[in-house]
Amino acid sequence: MTSLNANLLDHPLVVHKLSLMREKTTATAKFRLLLREISLLLAYEVLRDLKLHEIEIETPLETMTTQKLEGKKLCFISILRAGNGLMEGMLDLVPSARVGHVGLYRDPKSLQPVEYYKKLPDRINERLCVLVDPMLATGNSAIAAAQRVKEAGANNIKFACLLAAPEGIKAFSESHPDIPIYTAAIDRELNDHGYILPGLGDAGDRMYGTK
Ligand code: URA
Repeated sequence: MTSLNANLLDHPLVVHKLSLMREKTTATAKFRLLLREISLLLAYEVLRDLKLHEIEIETPLETMTTQKLEGKKLCFISILRAGNGLMEGMLDLVPSARVGHVGLYRDPKSLQPVEYYKKLPDRINERLCVLVDPMLATGNSAIAAAQRVKEAGANNIKFACLLAAPEGIKAFSESHPDIPIYTAAIDRELNDHGYILPGLGDAGDRMYGTK
């Protein structure tokens, strides 16, 4: 964990898969598959402190005391549209989790994020909310999405992404010092158009083949 509340997940499998995703020749189908695979590895780390409770079960041989996860108190929240790629992989790992979506676009005049969609599960105040977006670039949409999730009552939030720019980590940590960031890489900088360098391009376009 750095002083800016960012956890870098540099497991060799994550680094390898991310390198494949970064390559411009990687096709859409392969990109989506890699994103799904990395999201499992990210989720593994992000959910490391999930609470367990003791239960008694019968194995074929005897009774034993073991542990299971406490209730269904988990919520993945995708920042549309690229967040869906990360969120769907995490759902493979925790199929019982609830799902929320926040959609924001950037107003061309004010350059501020404007909400066009928001649907969050009920009793969000009782859940661990994992907010996901593959790219933490300027941080503007992640900051605004986290604000919406807090306004809905959430008080236990984590943010998971694939790539982060130092500028995005700084801005997000300053706005939401209570929300830890989990990222598979911290890249060099943003370019003039807000793209992460060296990055992987537009995550949504690469995931859905829209360019
Ligand atoms: N969003 C993307 O998809 N890519 C970037 O590099 C920055 C923001």
